[in-house]
Amino acid sequence: MSNSISTVLAHAGDGQAEKVLRQYHSVPEVQPVYMTSVFAFDDVKSVDDIYEGVDAGYVYSRMRHPNTDAVAQVLAEADGAKAGLVFSSGMAAIILSIISAVEAGDHIVSSPVLYGGVRDYLENELRRFGVEVTFTDFSDLSNIEKSIRPNTKLVYTETISNPLLAVPDIPAVAALAHKNGALFFIDNTFASPVVAQPIRYGADLVLYSATKYLGGHSDLVGGAATGAAEQIARVQKKLTLYGSTLGAAESWLLARSLRTLELRVTRQSENALKIAEFLERHPAVERVYYPGLASNSDHELAKRLFRNGLYGGMLSADIRGGVEAATYVVDHLGFIKYVPSLAGTATSVSYPAKTSHRAYSKEELDKAGISLGQLRFSAGIEAADDILAQLDEALGGL
Ligand code: PLP
Repeated sequence: MSNSISTVLAHAGDGQAEKVLRQYHSVPEVQPVYMTSVFAFDDVKSVDDIYEGVDAGYVYSRMRHPNTDAVAQVLAEADGAKAGLVFSSGMAAIILSIISAVEAGDHIVSSPVLYGGVRDYLENELRRFGVEVTFTDFSDLSNIEKSIRPNTKLVYTETISNPLLAVPDIPAVAALAHKNGALFFIDNTFASPVVAQPIRYGADLVLYSATKYLGGHSDLVGGAATGAAEQIARVQKKLTLYGSTLGAAESWLLARSLRTLELRVTRQSENALKIAEFLERHPAVERVYYPGLASNSDHELAKRLFRNGLYGGMLSADIRGGVEAATYVVDHLGFIKYVPSLAGTATSVSYPAKTSHRAYSKEELDKAGISLGQLRFSAGIEAADDILAQLDEALGGL
């Protein structure tokens, strides 16, 4: 039977060619981008078998997709976890994971110093759904213990806090949560699996803005979660329901980026330490926040918990002279651009009080220790001497 031109054209590039490809011995060196929203079947039974779990396979790309699966598996392995998921953003990963763990009438204990969007969600959005949140300083475990109630279902914090770079005692927090029948979720965005693997210290879910180190080139928005298979399965139901799927192209880009994650984060961490040491000596700088500095109050803890002698590529600094001095520095940093994100290959600066933590009230900023003179630096992979010279030039003009 020969078809008319309209039928031939309507099938251009359809996936039936895959059946021919599968008979070859050669496979693509790199996984292709499966730009398809759905999968095609020759019979009814094949779809029934997938839905019933009798057979493996894909049906509809919001539910599962070869590119998202491939990258999620790599991430899970990198974290030492059994399973993983990727999402359309870090916020989607965090919110859907939280939604999978709590319902109306439940309570969460959280650190107060978090990425501003997450803080906003916990404080303002969750309340609308009858979930209460207590914010308490995680540097003292007794604060957490005192905040836990019979209905506490979740303890939440960040491995390295944004923007103060504080490090919680992850194994102790996990043990405390579990002793009280609560889950422990941790945002590992600033550390990445190269610096910390909180699963190994008892975290139930490890969450990421993949937009940052995992993506690493400032060219994609995504999120990820890793954990035990049952935990991830619970989140997957929410992911499918809310439709926060990562697209095929972004999943492919993320997999491409993960190949160099260790190289990038190692270099960024080495550069961050050099920047922190330089800023600590500089007279225009009042205080530096970086767990890799021997003077940092979390240094010994970070040394024990972190991997490969690395402390991550992020650091913050209070510039003497407050908002005016900080603004001057940002405006005179040459190739170090003002980028309200982080973890690209280029060193960048951000202004937490004016960007990521803009949702905080003045009182909340003060309470959290986020000053108006505080700048946050994301170390890139450039030559360290060039970064230090650029910083010296900007600070020298104050
Ligand atoms: N967690 C941290 C530590 C972040 O810095 C961010 C964003 O800056 C997020 C989560 C949210 O991720 P996304 O912007 O990919 O939704």
